Amino acid sequence: MWKRTCPLCFVRTPWTAALAHSYEITCPACRAPLELSRFTRIFGAFGGIAGAFAALYLGRGIFHGWFWATPVVAAILAFGFVSALFVLLAGDLAVRPTPAAAASFPHTAK
Ligand SMILES: [Zn+2]
Repeated sequence: MWKRTCPLCFVRTPWTAALAHSYEITCPACRAPLELSRFTRIFGAFGGIAGAFAALYLGRGIFHGWFWATPVVAAILAFGFVSALFVLLAGDLAVRPTPAAAASFPHTAK
């Protein structure tokens, strides 16, 4: 939790790389191709949905009498921020698998 270390050399990757390049992270030390693990992605999505529900529920009292779309906008913004926070909280990286599907596609290579 909260580590974002390379699974091969245990060097910590910056948090900006984990958020901006979720599927194409490169280890700063060994240059290994990394990505967010499946657990991190599911945990982040679940946290974002929970944050959106919380913003919708809390916004019902705060934004009562405002424009009707204000709680919806608050829920969307809360999804973005809370899912990013949960991705950083999980912070588990995995080695990116090589694209084996492209090699097995039924095209003859020349
Ligand atoms: Zn590494």
